[in-house]
Amino acid sequence: MIVVLAGGTGGAKLARGLLDVVGGDGLVVVANTADDIEVHGVHVSPDPDLVSLWLADLIDARGYGLRGDTWAVMDGLEALGRPAWFRLGDRDLALCLVRTELLRAGRRPTEAQAEVTRGLGLEARVLPMSDDPVRTQVRTRGRWLPFQEFMILAGPGAPVEDVDLRGVDAARPTPEVLAAVGEAEAIVVGPSNPVISIGPILAVPGMRAALAEARAPVIAVSPFVDGRAVKGPTDAFVAHAGLEPGAGAVAEAYRGLLDGLVADEPVSGLPGLETDTLMDSPAARRRVAEETLAFARSLRR
Ligand code: GDP
Repeated sequence: MIVVLAGGTGGAKLARGLLDVVGGDGLVVVANTADDIEVHGVHVSPDPDLVSLWLADLIDARGYGLRGDTWAVMDGLEALGRPAWFRLGDRDLALCLVRTELLRAGRRPTEAQAEVTRGLGLEARVLPMSDDPVRTQVRTRGRWLPFQEFMILAGPGAPVEDVDLRGVDAARPTPEVLAAVGEAEAIVVGPSNPVISIGPILAVPGMRAALAEARAPVIAVSPFVDGRAVKGPTDAFVAHAGLEPGAGAVAEAYRGLLDGLVADEPVSGLPGLETDTLMDSPAARRRVAEETLAFARSLRR
């Protein structure tokens, strides 16, 4: 069984490639929940849902919604004068309604996500990193903003002055996450944002220790292609962490955790696999997944 740590894009694309290689019963994705938000009366869990949409081949061209979704509810909210800056398509909202109903009935986020993921027809498991609430806050221009407000409302050039993972000290990894890490044959830190996607997963107390104690090799795939992030604000967050975009930043961000690193550039200080890591087609996702898995299997702890 292969465990992938992921945000909603880079790690999700690698997970989709791995699904082709190992099948749904061989794949567990541990997804960041620090981007979660309560909005329009529902609990939205963007990264676990985006991973699920990627795995189900339902992701849209924007990479943050369902292909072919409609927007009647958002139009309705706007007509009622409600703020609709966080846009959820109608079927996307249906996923969130299922989650919210289960949470209100007292089920854990892990159980609610399992219902959503199974509902999309998936056998692979998508596990929230924790059942406890962690919420990323970003300080920009002197103001602390919840993560989604920073991403959507602060504007593309908004500076990253500070990052706070609210609630993380009181969070714990779930029994499901700990069991998967303990049983894995390989653990792959996906090419997601090291600071705001993978950072929160690793910051959950007990998670780094679980990875350090795992019998499986832990490797990472760099999210930097040709020296920069393919998309999104990774470069700004990495700069805030005092790192230069590139494989060196990945090695540094995950220092002490990795047995190997996959990147499109030479890696120093630990075993590396240099290969093209752009996953812009199903064939490319499958190739990167195959090479990553072969590399992980060549390493021993
Ligand atoms: P978010 O949760 O949607 O912000 O996404 P992630 O944190 O999971 O992914 C964002 C990162 O994915 C960015 O740093 C991108 O550089 C990286 N990324 C996106 N597509 C690719 C790809 O095809 N190959 C690699 N190596 N990284 C990618």
